[in-house]
Amino acid sequence: MRENKQGKCKYIFVTGGVLSGVGKGITAASIGAILKAKGYKVTMQKCDPYLNVDAGLLNPVEHGECFVTADGVETDLDLGHYERFLDFETSRYSITLSGAIFKELIEKERRGGFRGKTVQLIPHFTNLVQEKIAKASENSDIHIVEIGGTIGDYEGLSFIEAIRLFANKVGLSNCLYISVVYVPWINTSKEFKTKPAQNALKDLRGFGIIPDIVCTRTERPAPKEIQDKIAGFAGIDTEAVVNLPDIKSVYDVPFNVLKSGVLEILNEFIGDDSEPDMARWKEFSRRRNKEYKRTVKVGLVAKYVGNEDTYICVTEALKAAAAWEQVNLELVWVNAEELEGEGKIKELEGLDGIVVPGGFGVRGVEGKILAADYALEHNMPYLGLCLGMQVAVIAACRKAGVKTANSEEFGASEEEKNNVIYIMPGQKGKESTGASMRLGSYPAVLEKGSKVAKIYGETDIVERHRHRYEVNRKFIREIEKGGLKITGTSPDGKLVEFVEALGCDFFIATQAHPEFRSRPLEVHPLFKAFIKACKK
Ligand code: GLN
Repeated sequence: MRENKQGKCKYIFVTGGVLSGVGKGITAASIGAILKAKGYKVTMQKCDPYLNVDAGLLNPVEHGECFVTADGVETDLDLGHYERFLDFETSRYSITLSGAIFKELIEKERRGGFRGKTVQLIPHFTNLVQEKIAKASENSDIHIVEIGGTIGDYEGLSFIEAIRLFANKVGLSNCLYISVVYVPWINTSKEFKTKPAQNALKDLRGFGIIPDIVCTRTERPAPKEIQDKIAGFAGIDTEAVVNLPDIKSVYDVPFNVLKSGVLEILNEFIGDDSEPDMARWKEFSRRRNKEYKRTVKVGLVAKYVGNEDTYICVTEALKAAAAWEQVNLELVWVNAEELEGEGKIKELEGLDGIVVPGGFGVRGVEGKILAADYALEHNMPYLGLCLGMQVAVIAACRKAGVKTANSEEFGASEEEKNNVIYIMPGQKGKESTGASMRLGSYPAVLEKGSKVAKIYGETDIVERHRHRYEVNRKFIREIEKGGLKITGTSPDGKLVEFVEALGCDFFIATQAHPEFRSRPLEVHPLFKAFIKACKK
């Protein structure tokens, strides 16, 4: 690849037209996966026009899971896709929200950092966005930037201007612009309609960007005339307009992209026509799309049932683990709130395993405690993630006779001496602020010979966290009496990171969120081991 002013990085900018939610992020990530399979170091960044400073306070029902980067930033689930497709660790530089840019500009302005100058969207906002892009791409061969929303959105204009200007900085030959546009199929007249896409491309051109590639997203394969028509109206090569019809699994999108003819354009852009090595993707796709004789039924005991986006890293990790373990996965959504009633526990009978994922707030907690208790009693495979570990500890302590055991988060009080999960003294009083959370990667030391240590294959590990409450070590005797053993702690031994039940074949719970590190091609060992246990 040619050197450029920025170093040796090439940039791909992905914008969307007509509608949002048509898979712009997956398309971008799939292109990234292909380039990675050609041997490049590829990174990704999302620029989102929201005025939020980060995603930590966004409602998970509306926005899906809050993804946490290794360096402790709360972002949205797009970054999870990036990590899964590109197998790299995102960071604070992988997400750029308008709110964060404004905050930085305004703070600088208040400090007098602009020396009396007028502060404006152009150039100050657009310059800072460009700085963020340069920073995010520092160690990459190819850096992909996805712009959230659709072209023409009032709030996204400064980002579009920033990526146009970026080409002046690094040279147009080092920038590739991709537009992902939706082309609707009208069932009554049995035809595709290209007008919205034409308009979106006209808008993009109006902002000074002529795309190098246009990906038409359709519900069904669109004939070549459709691409030709769009190319004609947009004034670009017909080969540069490709069709990406819907496909069953997002992990097959890279193959759709390869089929579409995009690779030739990418090859020309980077000056390398080597074949990407997609062997492992192919193997994963084959295993994932296959029907197996054996089905494992995994109950996900949660508050937001049925909304996969809320627990997407967990469900993706389970699905990938099942594919590599060659079983079908039947995810059973168990509404934790409904488990609380008499006799409702029946819902758990017939499952092959239980996962209690992370969560906040009291709703459904008693049901989750019951689920952990059920798994302990019935030797049912159990995987507890964050809150899933806290409820397991509560269940064990109740079993050991601390009848009112609970978490301080859910109304346990000090006087009753029942807060087996508590706020550590240093964090007291900060409960309702975003700042008090333990966020991002932290090391843990696993006990030699423990089941978790065997599963990880090592005793010094690092996992990402997002929580405020901790296990109260005062209750260690009760925890053990209730059937659990602490088998992983922070290196100083103060924080409980892993517990397991010695009396069960597979009962492991962690204060961390291992799901954030699971990849389709490299499934996290805990999820693999869990599915293996469910198979038995
Ligand atoms: N609500 C719990 C805490 O803050 C668990 C958080 C989680 O599951 N991510 O500690």
